[in-house]
Amino acid sequence: MSRTPFIAGNWKMHGRAAEARALARSLRERIGGVSGVEVGVAPPFTAIEVVRAEIAGSAIRLGAQNLHEEPKGAFTGEISAPMLVEAGCHFVIIGHSERRQFFGETDAGVAKKLRAASAAGLVPIVCVGETLAEREAGRTDAVIEAQIRGGLADLAADGAPGLVIAYEPVWAIGTGRTATPEQAEDVHAKLRGWLGDLFGSQRASTTRIQYGGSVKAENANSLLSQPNIDGALVGGASLDPAAFEAIVLAAK
Ligand code: PEP
Repeated sequence: MSRTPFIAGNWKMHGRAAEARALARSLRERIGGVSGVEVGVAPPFTAIEVVRAEIAGSAIRLGAQNLHEEPKGAFTGEISAPMLVEAGCHFVIIGHSERRQFFGETDAGVAKKLRAASAAGLVPIVCVGETLAEREAGRTDAVIEAQIRGGLADLAADGAPGLVIAYEPVWAIGTGRTATPEQAEDVHAKLRGWLGDLFGSQRASTTRIQYGGSVKAENANSLLSQPNIDGALVGGASLDPAAFEAIVLAAK
């Protein structure tokens, strides 16, 4: 089963308007016409419009880093799925470990956000991953299985078309420490198995599973050549156009 790799850049809380514009312009020049790999960037909400304008007409997709589960209402400071669609977003990251760690997001919350994203037609990237303590305690599989079953609990077998899963070991995010290709492949293969349990083999074999955690130009090839790794969710290196380009080209 061939799955088009998907490389997504998570800019986190980086990029005021001028920086975001320059980064988007450089990415458009470098990889705006890329084929054989899907590419996306998720700037901060306030830079979505400048990035949208820069990448318009290119192959680069626009995404967001979070959303609220309700379409509108008295939720001060929040942004809804229909608002993201109107702003030009194609995808949205849900349940990133930084949201879980610093903002108390839970699997039940992920399930609600997934439903909202799906209803609005956004492609969700649902993030899962174990902490170092969990890995060292031999609990990796149990933690990831609980996250995937909990986060996808409400999803119908044909819900959220295009759903992407990102396996991001928390101990590898922003630390410079990467899972080995074998460690990552082991979890990815299990994730595909759990997707099969939940939704059947057809959906399991077509769902893209990204790896995330200190992906760089230097390690992209060995990770992306694993059979169940279908792309990457890239934090730090996505802010460097040359590094991000190299990762994108490694996925081709
Ligand atoms: C991320 O933010 O999803 C991530 C993987 O970050 P980094 O690439 O910096 O580890």
